[in-house]
Amino acid sequence: MLDCAIIGGGPAGLTAGLYATRGGLDNVTMFEKGMPGGQITMSSEIENYPGATGHISGMDLMIPWPEQCQRFGLKHEMSEVTRVSRRADGVFMIQKSDGSSDEAKSVIVCTGSTPKRAGFIGEDVFFGRGVSTCATCDGFFYKGKEVAVIGGGDTALEEALYLAKICAKVYLIHRRDSFRSAPSTIERVKTASNIELVVNAVPEEVVGDTMGVTGVRVVFNDGSTRHIDVPGVFVFVGNNVNNQVLIQEDGSFLCEMTKWGEVKVDLNMKTSVPGLFAAGDMRESAPKQVVCAAGDGAVAAIQAIAFVDGHQ
Ligand code: FAD
Ligand code: NAP
Repeated sequence: MLDCAIIGGGPAGLTAGLYATRGGLDNVTMFEKGMPGGQITMSSEIENYPGATGHISGMDLMIPWPEQCQRFGLKHEMSEVTRVSRRADGVFMIQKSDGSSDEAKSVIVCTGSTPKRAGFIGEDVFFGRGVSTCATCDGFFYKGKEVAVIGGGDTALEEALYLAKICAKVYLIHRRDSFRSAPSTIERVKTASNIELVVNAVPEEVVGDTMGVTGVRVVFNDGSTRHIDVPGVFVFVGNNVNNQVLIQEDGSFLCEMTKWGEVKVDLNMKTSVPGLFAAGDMRESAPKQVVCAAGDGAVAAIQAIAFVDGHQ
């Protein structure tokens, strides 16, 4: 029986593993289907992790994390978890894709989330070289320059406003002429002096060269096209939360979720189920930053220790 099972080995899972083992839990396993490190390992540069100065890639940042955890006894099992469930006696069952399962007294789920892609030509080729899904991460690289934002929901509009403070100009490209965002946000976007609305239009292709993106070609609903010269294209067309492991046999979720599929947690990363915690990008209102995911993981582990010790 594990004291704690950690599902996912990104910044949240690894930090949870560090705190859980160093904090006294003896038998802690982190289940990660790939190499530990999480999605930040796809980033060529990270500038906003405190203390990590200089030119550092996401991979560089994450390489020492597993070794640090393992020093304190964290076990890493390279397995894909298919379901976390809870028996009537309160013990959690961790089912894995190879058909085997483990038992655990507490569980911290840290499986992250995945931004959706819009599907235009060049989106994958230039991802990380001008195409981004994170304004907080990459906006600064376009300080004083012009950028395009794709999407018409709350995220696209809020991130367009964020980018408008850093960049010279933001082209907000949306496939309709009305937005599915809060009226006050729409008003702020419409009155921002450096946001140009490019509506009834979809990006057809992002173009560029060996240095990265140079522009985006959009097609309007009437068939006409326009080329916009920008070195950065930010895509905000929705998000898939990796919450599949919480889906039960009957299709319900193990714990309470938001209508967007994120796990509802309190400030201690506690879910609605005792002994089950969620941390990182998959929890509600996550800022989707490495430093925040790591902080969540630490909080969840401290709470898991208290739960296993019977203090809550
Ligand atoms: P993740 O990092 O997504 O880790 C989740 C882990 O769970 C993954 O390793 C996955 O393999 C594993 N997993 C999922 N399902 C299962 C399963 N069923 N069984 C076993 N394992 C599973 N943040 C910043 O702070 N600064 C930046 O500059 C920055 N730049 C970024 C650039 C890019 C290109 C991307 C993609 C993200 C960037 N981010 C940045 C965001 C940052 O990467 C995330 O906020 C952070 O990684 C979230 O950590 P997490 O642990 O919650 O989830
Ligand atoms: P979203 O509401 O699903 O919006 C996605 C946007 O992208 C839509 O405008 C959609 O167009 C567009 N889109 C989708 N696929 C596209 C494609 N292939 N090409 C071009 N455009 C495409 O996603 P979100 O903005 O990330 O928000 C997710 C949820 O979180 C929402 O419910 C939102 O309200 C919520 N949220 C809330 C806040 C807040 O309250 N402050 C902040 C952020 C997010 P259509 O409109 O035509 O469908």
